[in-house]
Amino acid sequence: MMLLKLAIQKSGRLHDDSVKLLKECGIEISNNVKNQLKATASNFPLEVFFLRDDDIPQYVEDGVADIGFVGENVIYESKKNVTVTELLGFGKCRLSIAVGKNEPYPNVQCLESKKIATSYPVLLQKFLDENKVNAEIHEISGSVEIAPGIGLADAICDLVSSGSTLFMNGLQETEVILKSESALIKTPTLSGEKQRILDKLLFRIQTVKKAKN
Ligand code: ATP
Ligand code: ZN
Repeated sequence: MMLLKLAIQKSGRLHDDSVKLLKECGIEISNNVKNQLKATASNFPLEVFFLRDDDIPQYVEDGVADIGFVGENVIYESKKNVTVTELLGFGKCRLSIAVGKNEPYPNVQCLESKKIATSYPVLLQKFLDENKVNAEIHEISGSVEIAPGIGLADAICDLVSSGSTLFMNGLQETEVILKSESALIKTPTLSGEKQRILDKLLFRIQTVKKAKN
């Protein structure tokens, strides 16, 4: 039997909501998903792979997975050739620029020649180019919010949801460069049979979303 292969985050902020969405769609996967690499649904032609979120666009582009649930921030940063098919309504956050809370920030031009720490160099460079600002991007993989406090950067570009992490680190949010939520992405080429399974899944997801509005 043909199975549609779905990649979701193994653990982290998107994991529980991804599993919950499948459940709300009436799709049963085994309970103890956290320690597994993959699981097969018992009542729908679906196989679920558990991966690091950053790896999901690549796997979907390559067709190792047919579809994935992942944040728009990760999708657009990756520049992979995948299709955003449906927004999923969870994992909402924004990619923002922040500076020290006492730094004046009259407009985006004040970032000229500044050093900005981020894990999102692609999206940040695009924003800077659009605004004709030359700044130095300092790529770091985590704990971006401490960079200004330790003299590593003048500003940061990082994911924000409530803003409490920025506040705790003495930072103020000055620009939103992307609003993001999790999305269903699809591989560039999908067989007709798999597309029909995906259409059934999409119909269920849309029904779940409508019931929440
Ligand atoms: P992995 O181990 O899978 O690489 P991670 O540490 O990169 O996980 P998480 O912190 O679990 O990622 O975040 C996953 C996604 O959750 C983010 O890419 C983003 O789309 C979303 N998200 C929602 N709110 C936030 C937030 N406040 N901070 C970070 N990510 C958020
Ligand atoms: Zn990640």
